[in-house]
Amino acid sequence: MKYKIPVNSIEQSKLPKVDINNVPFGRFYSDHMFCADYVDGEWKDFRIVPFGKITMSPANLTLHYGQSVFEGMKASKNEKGNPMLFRLDRHISRLNNSAKRMGMPEFPEDLFFQALHQLVGLDRNWVPDSPNALYIRPFMFAADEFIGVRSSDTYRFIIFTGPVASYYKDPVKLLTAENSIRAAKGGVGAAKTAGNYARTLQPMNEASKKGFDQIMWMSADFKYIQECGTMNLFFIIDGTIITPPTTDGTILEGITRDSFITILENNNYKVEIRPLSIDEVIEAYHNGKLEDVFGSGTAAVVAPVSEITYKDLVMKIPLEGRKISEFLKDELNNIRSGKSQDKYGWIQEVSIENTLEEAI
Ligand SMILES: *Cc1c(COP(=O)(O)O)cnc(C)c1O
Repeated sequence: MKYKIPVNSIEQSKLPKVDINNVPFGRFYSDHMFCADYVDGEWKDFRIVPFGKITMSPANLTLHYGQSVFEGMKASKNEKGNPMLFRLDRHISRLNNSAKRMGMPEFPEDLFFQALHQLVGLDRNWVPDSPNALYIRPFMFAADEFIGVRSSDTYRFIIFTGPVASYYKDPVKLLTAENSIRAAKGGVGAAKTAGNYARTLQPMNEASKKGFDQIMWMSADFKYIQECGTMNLFFIIDGTIITPPTTDGTILEGITRDSFITILENNNYKVEIRPLSIDEVIEAYHNGKLEDVFGSGTAAVVAPVSEITYKDLVMKIPLEGRKISEFLKDELNNIRSGKSQDKYGWIQEVSIENTLEEAI
């Protein structure tokens, strides 16, 4: 179905004031945003408008009870200069799974596709050169004015974008969680919902005072490794690539993680998707078999882990010779920017003709 998404264009682009190939993560936003409202049981009033502030009542439900979900995606530029969108189907299905878990309505997949093509097409000049990219932030939040814990009847859905460089420049040092947890079975660890991040901030602040970059989150019994920050984790032990499973709902199902597993299996690497205990990692470290540890996520793609601290033990992991994680990073960046063939059907090129809707 083709939706009508009227465009109210910005009068003067902010682009001349921004060096899009040289920006910190998350500070600069493109000219336009897409908005939609959920009212009377349906999504309506689709529009693209200048990026700008939104007003809300102090009694807005989201501010008090946190009914909100988001996605994080990237568009890369190909050699023709056109933006390429990555695994849109996965992002919308994850957004809808997050929404369902938080008692929120789903957003139509075809509308999501069309809105993204139109928005990214309109702001295509904001897409920096690969491996920098345009970061895309779709999100949904409760819009009711009401004090009392219940699902909202109305919601707002917004997509805005902004140019980004890679997220972590230096290798990361992880602190193994010892007394706080991110997620447990039956909770909301698999949902990209605001409270999941708020709950990590106080322990993160403590850890960063001690010089760590991220906390490595553990299962509720503190035995099994979950993930870190906004990244899934991969370990290479004695030549075997291992990543914890996402099936029990405590680990966010990363799309980068899934892409890496697919690329690895297609290149005849064996990946073990299974629970990994901290004891096993410590043993491998003592035997000199802990070869590589890295985080995977849209922002950083691959973030090499240089150190894992567990209580008093500091495990240093050599940064040299990380052939597999470097291959993964390059291969994914190349698929995204059209330099490698898109064997897996992950890419949608934004065609410019589709996006020149009449302005109102
Ligand atoms: C978003 C996120 C990830 C990574 O997901 P990608 O789809 O690869 O970006 C991992 N863990 C958490 C907690 C996240 O929020």
